[in-house]
Amino acid sequence: MQQDQKTFLKGLKYLLNYHEAIGVAGYPLNRDIGSFLQFMPCSAKEAAVVPAPEVRHAGPAQKTGHKVATGRPPAVMLAEIGEEVIACRACDLHKQRIYPVVGRGPEKVRLMIVGDWLSAGEEGRLPPGQLFGVEQDRMLARMLAAINLPVEKVFIGNVVKCAVPATVQPQAVHVQNCVSYLRRQIVALAPEAILAMGMVAARVILEKSQPLSRLRGRFHDFEAVPGVHIPVLATYHPTYLLQNPEMKAATWADLQLLARQLGLPPHKGG
Ligand code: SF4
Repeated sequence: MQQDQKTFLKGLKYLLNYHEAIGVAGYPLNRDIGSFLQFMPCSAKEAAVVPAPEVRHAGPAQKTGHKVATGRPPAVMLAEIGEEVIACRACDLHKQRIYPVVGRGPEKVRLMIVGDWLSAGEEGRLPPGQLFGVEQDRMLARMLAAINLPVEKVFIGNVVKCAVPATVQPQAVHVQNCVSYLRRQIVALAPEAILAMGMVAARVILEKSQPLSRLRGRFHDFEAVPGVHIPVLATYHPTYLLQNPEMKAATWADLQLLARQLGLPPHKGG
């Protein structure tokens, strides 16, 4: 077991003992706790079970995402991935799929945003064309506008490509089956930066098991393919922010970090 996992589990044990001492007898199985239980034990090696796609490099190892050379146009690669996702039956989640969520955005982007998965929510309503959810997508567009980045200029997708009912909690095996689509999208897009929104997205991309609260607030190095490094910033998912508005301040601080990384002009109001 890695040292950071040991430290994390030790801290968790103290917290649970404290909760027990003050009379907390149980926890609601909401999306966040469910995700934690699913993915917490995942080691870096387990998370990396799906190999990165092979990429042909035109020259020596590159250090910026935009210089990835695959030999194939990104639009073609993205279209192929989209067709595969729509027809995918690689795991049993397809039986409960409301619709596939390939992702949306232009093929030339500076930023890629990755969420966990699209859930119909407790009301069971899921209009077509959603990425993170109705309210969530509106919130995300507002957040991006606040850092002077139009949502139309960003590619947005999820780790798990099947939208599912609220009662369905994707398991680690579903993530492992699906993550190759995301990795291929990252290679095709070769963004300058990735914003991982949510614990599953952050852990899958970074291959780390720490809680999101410890992963956020700084850029991490992600090697998309050997020699090609993309900075990744982890932050909270809009679903979590709708449930925990007090975390918006931390997310705003993360977005400002992102704006600085991309050299975006300050917002008129900011
Ligand atoms: Fe395929 Fe991913 Fe859907 Fe599973 S979750 S059926 S791997 S698209």
